[in-house]
Amino acid sequence: MIERLCIIGVGLIGGSLARALRAAGACREVVGSGRNEESLYRAVELGVIDRYELDFGSAVEGADVVVVAVPLGAMEGVFRAIGGRLAPGAVVTDVGSAKASVLEAARAAFGGIPPWFVPGHPIAGTERSGVEASFPGLFEGRRVILTPLAQTDRAALECVRELWERSGAQVVEMAVAHHDEVLAATSHLPHLLAYALVDALARMDESEEIFRYAAGGFRDFTRIASSDPTMWRDISLANRDAILVMLERFGEVLGHLTRAVRERDADELMKVFSRAKAARDRYASKDGATRNGP
Ligand code: NAP
Repeated sequence: MIERLCIIGVGLIGGSLARALRAAGACREVVGSGRNEESLYRAVELGVIDRYELDFGSAVEGADVVVVAVPLGAMEGVFRAIGGRLAPGAVVTDVGSAKASVLEAARAAFGGIPPWFVPGHPIAGTERSGVEASFPGLFEGRRVILTPLAQTDRAALECVRELWERSGAQVVEMAVAHHDEVLAATSHLPHLLAYALVDALARMDESEEIFRYAAGGFRDFTRIASSDPTMWRDISLANRDAILVMLERFGEVLGHLTRAVRERDADELMKVFSRAKAARDRYASKDGATRNGP
């Protein structure tokens, strides 16, 4: 049982975690924090948090667990504000989508990676943001990746593992660099492609007409281009190196496909499409094709 849980950034992820833990009876009090008083007030009205503090340092006082759920670019500022204000024995974790950059922010703010800091990332989300979009079942059956370091305290790690398990998630551990490579491939590249496709079409002269005739496939492919631009700007910069590797690899595949279409290479097109269909069918049957994810 967490006596006082502090969530900094009561948006989609922070709000959903608070809702899930409350529903599971895993915490007695939830204190929220963020920049915008109106949305924190709304979070109290919705029953997501019990109360809020606009000052991050005041928000963490007396909390046994602190979850930092702000955009990646805001992590270091939050860490700086809470350093020195934490209760003895408090455990701090984050939900950032790229882990090396969060560790860099923690190192800069805390002067090293403290044993009580457990980096984490829930592989769950939607294209919506803000506390209104949060819901308690977001993490049900989804994976959460923790990327502890050698110095991470075992008890702090177990505390964060249990927190996510109580929200319905399945927890796995991974090395930081591996996490960032895997997520660049499975989440960051698809988001960049969705944004690029919609932007390219939107900038064409006949864009109004194009969107009028866009069908289900276009909707499926581009859902994630409705995601928050600030969050994706931060992720693109934070995981730059791994994303560049994926963009370059994807550029080669696209070049290959362009050549096949130009040269009417039906065999090559069949080969690529069949291979992709088989891989997608395998993944969908294992993971449930209809679930939304980040
Ligand atoms: P969100 O719904 O926009 O929530 C972000 C929260 O952070 C808001 O409550 C916002 O509140 C606060 N915030 C924004 N800028 C801030 C700043 N400069 N300083 C302090 N607080 C700030 O976003 P989210 O989708 O929950 O994402 C939060 C984190 O989760 C990000 O690090 C993201 O990488 C990670 N994540 C997202 C997903 C996803 O699919 N959405 C999945 C996994 C992980 P105020 O405006 O009141 O400050």
